Amino acid sequence: MRYHFSILIFFLFFFWFKHFLPHSFISENKHHSFQQFVYASNHEKQYFKIRNREFIHPLPGEITSILVAATSDMHGTLGIFCDFDCDQVKGLLHLVPVIKELRVRDPQMLLLDGGDTYQGSMMQFYLNHVQPSVPFQDPLLQLMNKLRYDAMTLGNHDLEMPLDKLSWRMRKASFPFLGANIQWKTETLGEFSKSTNSITTPFQNLHPYHVQERNGVRLGILGMTTPGVPIWLDPLQIKDFRIKEILSSSRKWISVLRDKEKVDLLIGLFHSGADKDYDDRTAIKLGLPSPNASGQVAKVLKQFDLLIAGHTHQTIPKYALDELPRFSVPIIFPGAYAKGVSVVKIKLIENQQRWQIYDMKFDFKSARINQDPMSIKEEIGLSDEMLESVRNYRSQPSKVILKEIPQKVVRNDCLSKLSHVALQQPGKESKFSLLPGSWHTADIKREDLGKPILRKHLFQWMRYDNLPVLANLYGLQIRIMLNPMLRKFQERRIRSSTYLVPGGFEAVPVVEDGPVRLSLKEWNGSTIREDELYKVWMTNYHWNGGSDIRSRALLHDSQLLKREQRFLRDAVFDFLAAKHPKLPLSCKQFLEPI
Ligand SMILES: [Zn+2]
Repeated sequence: MRYHFSILIFFLFFFWFKHFLPHSFISENKHHSFQQFVYASNHEKQYFKIRNREFIHPLPGEITSILVAATSDMHGTLGIFCDFDCDQVKGLLHLVPVIKELRVRDPQMLLLDGGDTYQGSMMQFYLNHVQPSVPFQDPLLQLMNKLRYDAMTLGNHDLEMPLDKLSWRMRKASFPFLGANIQWKTETLGEFSKSTNSITTPFQNLHPYHVQERNGVRLGILGMTTPGVPIWLDPLQIKDFRIKEILSSSRKWISVLRDKEKVDLLIGLFHSGADKDYDDRTAIKLGLPSPNASGQVAKVLKQFDLLIAGHTHQTIPKYALDELPRFSVPIIFPGAYAKGVSVVKIKLIENQQRWQIYDMKFDFKSARINQDPMSIKEEIGLSDEMLESVRNYRSQPSKVILKEIPQKVVRNDCLSKLSHVALQQPGKESKFSLLPGSWHTADIKREDLGKPILRKHLFQWMRYDNLPVLANLYGLQIRIMLNPMLRKFQERRIRSSTYLVPGGFEAVPVVEDGPVRLSLKEWNGSTIREDELYKVWMTNYHWNGGSDIRSRALLHDSQLLKREQRFLRDAVFDFLAAKHPKLPLSCKQFLEPI
């Protein structure tokens, strides 16, 4: 009896005591697959593990410094083939001399990247989507290895490629990929293997953070990815994981880094902008956390010493500064396309046997033309065959010739109409389309006159890797999606990515004291009824939620008819590369079939 009584007391005590444990932290960790089962990237057999460490104790009066250099949003810009803005010096190969010089200044320099790294150039498109799969190579990744990058954070665009290619990059990288707010859905985790004492996750080398000791200082780098990913990406592509809110995830990991890993300096490497309002309403309507949270973190979480933020392509600051601009925490934006590298020099001094920052200087080092970028091509796996196949791919000709340099309006109209016709299947009933109405300027030059439009021109013209989606839409939804077009007629401001144009039907402004609404008619003259369903092609970007189209038009999954696997750009190229393409009227002004 006494015995049972003491067991009862024990349990009562246990349940009472449990309240005093940091509950949320413990329960979160139980489901957080990173805790035990993620490999450390460069030592195959070691798992990612939270370590309990002792503080580093500098000697009385000791001083030291840390040099941090960062790139972000390189978008595959290596610097060999130029896809757009070719008058600018950019690409990681042209940062090699700059990074080497910085290493001479401080051999212990920390080199970081903020993500959106392996998507956006034609070469990366070729490697990710065209190249036969084995043996897979990525010279950009290998150059990052060679330059001894210490860590990078996953960007939203890095999740667009086939995930086996991302996973390959993670295995081959000599640095960890970070994403502390990425959580695997437990049901998709693989089997526990007794032999390796690990669980297979889709990405073996994705870590929440990275700890390094440099110049006697322990640094923690915490990576966060924008939770806006589901706004833009296909659900199937991201079905195995979710991306959690940045502020609360940061709080959780800060306590690990400060209390357990006992870091002296805490750096946030975030793929998330600072302007909270941008894309925020879209995210809220889709039930997602703020896509751009780094400004909020910088204001609220003073435990960070420095934030490095990518995703928005901003370069802030652009020039050398003696003191970094602050919210509460200094925040820098390294810009895009490897046009330069943001550099922070942090000086530290001993204070009560701990490191304390006493100075933080900033500099932005621009890329310089690397006179001989090919001298390291073998070291980065850039074989002649690869160069040749990318070159051939870029210069694949269509069967239309450039007659003259088109005006912007004509060029935009032509490409929207080409996209529409390229999606129609011969012999089948024609479908409507609501596709982008403004496109980039292709790098078409005078010397291209009289020559065929090449695949690379289309890549420059259509920079986003959009996939077509066919949906059953009500006339009313079509009308709502054309609202930005009406606003444009009214000469009001619109976000250009919301501007869709009608394909296969017409939308004409009804003018009474200015354009008041759009009259929507089929080609046969019949009115498009708001309560009737029509089959409409659109991009997966807009269908998924990009530019708030999905929530404004109340698009619903049940309206989805199919997702096309061929990129819209490829559909247009195939159309132009077929024999005697029947060109839309606006295209005939500057293009001519061969
Ligand atoms: Zn991004």
